Amino acid sequence: MESPGKTQKPHAICIPFPTQGHINPMLKLAILLHHKGFHITFVHTEYNYNRLLQSHSGAAALALSPEFQFATITDGLPPPEKCAAANSTQDIRSLCLSTRKNCLAPLNELIGKLNCHTPAVPPVSCVITDIIMGFALDAAEKIGVPGVLLQTPAACELMCYESYLKNGHLDTPIDWVPGVIPLRLKDFVDFAVQTTDPQDPMLDFVVQEFDRSSKASAIIINTFDELEKNVLKALSSICPPIYAVGSLHLLLNQLPENNTLKHMSSSLWKENPACLSWLDSKPENSVIYVNFGSIVVLTRQQLNELAWGLAGSKKNFVWIVRSDLVRGENDALPVEFWEEIGDRGFVAAWSNQVQVLNHAAIGGFLTHCGWNSTMESLCSGVPMLCWPFFSDQRLNCRYVCEEWEIGMEIGGDVKRDEVVFLVRELMDGEKGKMLRKRALEWKKKAAEAVDGSSSRNLDRLIGEVLSV
Ligand code: UDP
Repeated sequence: MESPGKTQKPHAICIPFPTQGHINPMLKLAILLHHKGFHITFVHTEYNYNRLLQSHSGAAALALSPEFQFATITDGLPPPEKCAAANSTQDIRSLCLSTRKNCLAPLNELIGKLNCHTPAVPPVSCVITDIIMGFALDAAEKIGVPGVLLQTPAACELMCYESYLKNGHLDTPIDWVPGVIPLRLKDFVDFAVQTTDPQDPMLDFVVQEFDRSSKASAIIINTFDELEKNVLKALSSICPPIYAVGSLHLLLNQLPENNTLKHMSSSLWKENPACLSWLDSKPENSVIYVNFGSIVVLTRQQLNELAWGLAGSKKNFVWIVRSDLVRGENDALPVEFWEEIGDRGFVAAWSNQVQVLNHAAIGGFLTHCGWNSTMESLCSGVPMLCWPFFSDQRLNCRYVCEEWEIGMEIGGDVKRDEVVFLVRELMDGEKGKMLRKRALEWKKKAAEAVDGSSSRNLDRLIGEVLSV
């Protein structure tokens, strides 16, 4: 037990949705809170924790402070057919439905254990959970502490969902979402566009999760005030208090180098550091970085068109080809491709993306427009070639190309000639120059937010919600 009169640290329990794009921002937020004096329990699913142990060669790399602990709960899913060693991405739909159904009981049990008043662990004083893991708000309510949501995608994604669920219909062009730029039907959050079956359990999932968000003590968003001014204003009139604290990875950069957690990686795949040394050998702005994040799956045909497009562009490239990028296939690139590219290309299974994007040799990013990738590119001043697939990716792409003017869009059914043309245009063309200039302007604004609005918002979040 703590000795009477001694002030205990606040204790935040952080629960990310168990995919890479959700774990990364939650971990960064947790490390920032730890730096601000919080005791942290970070909750992984058992499946992901085992993957982390494999990709980081054991627990030592993950346990760097007695006041920052990892805990695990089940995701409720049977082990995937491919063994964990294959690092396969779990099915997102099943994860959504299973976590909602199966995770509350083990979470309550975990909190019960943490609250057993051992001297080293202060009682849980707030719950921070992913916006699609709203069940954890019930756990917060049960022990009478604030329950806070982390929206890992953009603010405009949340606004689109909120508006769609209130209006329940889609008119085109979509110009009725408060604070959001006019959208084509295909730009809208695609679950809303695709779901026509009222019995689809995912519809119930989305309705329930966004309904629950109104009960949170606050919503944290990995964006910054200047980037999504209008939509943040509109959101704040309909949601619980909103705190824009992005970009979290830039805020983390500000921590002193002797902070042992600052460089902790949460990659579920093993990073290949050799792509950074390969980049060292290339001239400034001469390499296009190609990466589709952790979930996108390509068809064999898409992979081939992209491969021959990259080869045909004659530009240098780093291409991240995850072990499960093409479903059911591993080493999927044709032998002739390797012969053709020689030293112009470097292919790896996973990278430290933020480091790659900040390398001077990188001049462009061919991306699927996941929100983390979009923010990481914008904050590094790297213009984008956007090839969005699903979820919020088309919405992000629309903002990148139309609102922030830092990218160009690739059509859905990609052909090699189009890849050749657009890669050259991005890297060498007049449009590419304009986009790079705009991207550098946004990089500056993102850095200003770190010293300004985002830091202030983080401090307000702590003072007004998390430490109450
Ligand atoms: N990432 C990485 N190395 C890779 C691929 C991705 O570090 O080779 C990180 C990337 O920096 C980002 C996250 O994984 O933080 C992917 O999130 P995003 O929202 O861009 O896409 P998702 O994977 O959710 O589709």
